[in-house]
Amino acid sequence: MKAEYSEILREIKSNNALLVAVSKVQPLAKIEQLYKLGHRDFGENRVQEFLEKYEKLPADIKWHLIGHLQTNKVKDIICKSNLIHAVDRIKLARKIDALSSDLNVTTRCLLQIKIAQEDSKYGYRIEQLLSQLNEGQLNFPNITWCGVMGMATYTMDMNQVRTEFRKLKDYHNLIKRSFFDNRPDFCELSMGMSGDYKVALEEGATIVRIGSKIFGPRQ
Ligand SMILES: *Cc1c(COP(=O)(O)O)cnc(C)c1O
Repeated sequence: MKAEYSEILREIKSNNALLVAVSKVQPLAKIEQLYKLGHRDFGENRVQEFLEKYEKLPADIKWHLIGHLQTNKVKDIICKSNLIHAVDRIKLARKIDALSSDLNVTTRCLLQIKIAQEDSKYGYRIEQLLSQLNEGQLNFPNITWCGVMGMATYTMDMNQVRTEFRKLKDYHNLIKRSFFDNRPDFCELSMGMSGDYKVALEEGATIVRIGSKIFGPRQ
């Protein structure tokens, strides 16, 4: 695990990107191993599992919520997450804003945009997202929008993956230019997993989310 981690980290750092080690399903011991090597950014996709790990692991870990989030789970994660990657509907954003406001915090979030061809992938359709941004519906005082996130189609065809990542980068640039021009917080492009992170880095990812390539296959 250490060798894979070091090599991947070197690659990612040379691209000035951030590695989120996706620790879903992995036992605490493996997370602690990476923590001892100095790693702090970990990603989880299920709230219940995240909360159990959050309680047991050091407080200076920066937790990234990367999975689809149910509105009724938001109350459990506000103040505990460093970055929510998968905001893909206005109802979820409203809830995050309201609960953040109650607690007097601002919550850092990414807008998840659908770029894959598969039906199963979550994410905003770009037309809907642009229309909500245009109408100011996503201006929430207690949310800091930090950029966009997307998942490419699960395929061996790296040309297709590259095309999808390029599309996400274009969306990022368009949204930045149109709505967040003078907002330095809006700078993140979260894309790339074990199978496609090299392509993602070539296409300008600032955050990559890698699980199995570091920790080994999930059970
Ligand atoms: C599981 C997961 C990853 C990491 O997947 P690997 O293929 O194990 O690297 C990245 N992003 C999201 C949203 C995930 O759910």
